Formats: sequence, structure tokens, C-alpha cells
Amino acid sequence: MNTTAIVLAAGQGKRMRSATHKQYLLIKGRPVLYYSLKAFEDSFIDNIVLVTGKGEQDFCQKEIIQKYNFKKVTVITEGGKERYHSVAYGLRAIKWACDYVFIHDGARPFIDNEILTRALNEVKLSGACVTGMPVKDTVKIADDTRYVASTPSRSLVWQIQTPQVFEKDLITDAYEKLLVNEERLIADGISITDDAMVVEYFSDKKIKLTEGSYKNIKITTPEDLKIAQILLDA
Ligand code: C5P
Repeated sequence: MNTTAIVLAAGQGKRMRSATHKQYLLIKGRPVLYYSLKAFEDSFIDNIVLVTGKGEQDFCQKEIIQKYNFKKVTVITEGGKERYHSVAYGLRAIKWACDYVFIHDGARPFIDNEILTRALNEVKLSGACVTGMPVKDTVKIADDTRYVASTPSRSLVWQIQTPQVFEKDLITDAYEKLLVNEERLIADGISITDDAMVVEYFSDKKIKLTEGSYKNIKITTPEDLKIAQILLDA
């Protein structure tokens, strides 16, 4: 059995308002991306595909992979304009026999072996699973004039994280269909914000939710960096 992780680090991180992309910002002296890669390096995962921004491959090779002696990063490939382009290019870079793909935001440094193992056990049963946690706050659906349209039952609402884990053929096929149908989705006002959505739109496969952790935050805004520092100290 082969398991491959696609670690995404091709985002611009505009919401961070920093000249350095968020995946390269330092927490306790090491880049955010170091922690995400380290979790996969120390796990059962066989191969890692690292997806970086244009022209950032050499920097990642020298300053992260060589510097911290990561052995499982098999390919470093260039990402695209949207997250889903980066995932599609990452999938195309898998040239070896692969059973399960773990797609992960490089900007989530707090995954651990427990999360990865839970997801592996689940994907072996269901073929498609995404990590998340039940919401703590009540969620409202707004209409486009910002009035409350409805309130979903809190016990059924989950906030979604990564890794999102799929059978390789299922996710590859769904992403290739997405690229073919991209313009139609854009015209319909649909924006693809996670991998599960691609499977939801382009296959009949049911996707299981598996527990991540409340610590598994995505570093997005300056406050998140402070929270990450506290979590790392704890
Ligand atoms: O922008 P967002 O917070 O959704 O990004 C989630 C992850 O996807 C980040 O790790 C980011 O680097 C990555 N990403 C990417 N290519 C893009 C946009 C985001 O690899 N075009």
C-alpha cells in the first residue's frame, strides 16, 4: 500500500498582510511549513509532493528540505492561481502507484500522528474522508443582503480542516473533471474551497467526516500566528 501526501504551499497569504508568504513565517524559529512537513515525515506516509509558488522551489529545497533533512519529499512542483489548481497539479505529479492521497494545507502546522492514523483507518473503509471538528458556535446561513436565512442544527455542523483523504483514482478523476468544467462552475458563481467539494460535484461518492482537533488551525491572519506560538509552547 502506498500513501502520498500533497502539501500545499503555493498561496499568497494576502490576509496575513505580510511580505513573507504565511507558510514561510517563523514560529519558534522555524517556518510554518516545516511543522506540516515534519508531521508527515515522522508518520506512516510514504511520499510527499510539495506544491510551492512560482519560483519558490529552490528556496524550499535548500531552506526547508535540505536544511531539516526531510527524506520523503519526492517532488516539488509549482502550484496555480487557486488552491484547486495547486491540488490538481500536485495530483498530476504523482507518477508512482499510489492508493491513498492525503491533501493538506501547508499552513496547518498542528496535524499529528493521531489525526493521520484516524484518517487512514477511515479512508480504508469509506474511500473518502475529510478531517474536521463539530462547531462550537451556532452557525447562521445568510442571504445575499446579510439577513439570516436559516439556522442549521448545531449538532450537525462541522468546520472542515485538512488533511482530506481519498482513494487516488477517485480524487484524480474528480479533479480532472473540475478542470474541464471550471468555466461553467465560475459562471454559476460556485467557488471551490476544499477537496471534498470536488468529489461532491464530480462523483457519487459519499464522504465521511473524521475528527481532526481544535488545535489544527490554519495560519491565516496575524492573530493565528500568535495563537500558534502559544499552542507550540503548551
Ligand atoms: O488560501 P487558503 O488559506 O485557503 O490556503 C490553504 C492552503 O492552500 C495554504 O497552505 C496555501 O499555501 C495553499 N494554496 C495553494 N495554492 C493556491 C492557494 C492556496 O497551494 N493558489
